[in-house]
Amino acid sequence: MENTKELKTWLDAFGLGHPLVIAGPCSAETEEQVLQIAHELKDTDATVLRAGIWKPRTRPGNFEGVGALGLKWLQKAKKETGMLIATEVANKDHVKLALEHDVDILWIGARTTVSPFIIQEIADALEGTDKIVLVKNPVNPDLPLWLGAIERLYAKNIKKLGVIHRGFSTYEKTRYRNNPEWQIPIELQNRFPDLPLICDPSHIAGRRDIIFDICQTALDLNFDGLMIETHYDPDNAWSDAAQQITPKSLVQMMIDLKVRKATDTEAEYRNALNTLRTQIDVVDHQLIEMLGKRMKIADSIGELKKEKNVAILQTKRWNEILGKMILEGDERGLSEEFVLKMFKAIHQESINHQEKIINN
Ligand code: PEP
Ligand code: MN
Repeated sequence: MENTKELKTWLDAFGLGHPLVIAGPCSAETEEQVLQIAHELKDTDATVLRAGIWKPRTRPGNFEGVGALGLKWLQKAKKETGMLIATEVANKDHVKLALEHDVDILWIGARTTVSPFIIQEIADALEGTDKIVLVKNPVNPDLPLWLGAIERLYAKNIKKLGVIHRGFSTYEKTRYRNNPEWQIPIELQNRFPDLPLICDPSHIAGRRDIIFDICQTALDLNFDGLMIETHYDPDNAWSDAAQQITPKSLVQMMIDLKVRKATDTEAEYRNALNTLRTQIDVVDHQLIEMLGKRMKIADSIGELKKEKNVAILQTKRWNEILGKMILEGDERGLSEEFVLKMFKAIHQESINHQEKIINN
């Protein structure tokens, strides 16, 4: 993928707005539901209507989508509202049906991007298409796997490509349904600045109360668009009920979000600065998270020492840690003085935590 300049052009050519807003239900449920949501979205910033027809579910027995029937509803919605339509495809049969029904944007889901065989099958079925194809990140935080999928599509002469960041699975429970790991889309953007990058805050969040903040971070990081699950009755949606918002909330959100546009060199400078600052915020957030994790482990050590009545301060172990960290710090351009100061503070906090446990 050497000359990727052409990739960004479809975004401008379609005049879909900045940021591009894709909205609509997680799943198409009934014809009435699709049409009602489309009409409620018609005069908002959303220019593309999304709805899943084939739904990948973790466990069997849940609603798995209405199937090809839903494509007719999407077509009708397009005809009535003028919005472009988008749906997920997960194999060559889906691709065939979606193309037959003139779906404008086909996206590849996170569970599909992990499989090079399926991606190849989809790429073959899409060969030479002028439809827009968006590739969600794989469920696991693996940038080469994500890029590999894009490369397979690009090699089949599919030029209207883009990516969707929807967060990554973790075993550990965090405040997100899927951890954003912002450093991954940031790296992707650095390597392929012309590949349109869209954020799906709904699947990152898993809950509607933090969707706004995720959208703002994405915009601050210069994402090109947002894909937001929207339903007139989110609580009673047949899938992903907790994370959907109403078209009305979407309108308010788009008013409240700060969208930045580079119009002159001063604005460009401020944009660049803002992007870097947001990157710093992401790292700071991770630092605090990691430190919190470290202190939790210290608490467990405190419990153990309390049980065995062992002294808190283990000088030999502490000196080993310091020695190792000074060397690692040096490899990353951190001075010995800084590493010492930082670890002394961390160590002190660790001791305070353990003391609290032992004296309780
Ligand atoms: C979806 O967009 O409804 C979906 C299933 O997303 P993901 O592939 O990101 O889980
Ligand atoms: Mn969903």
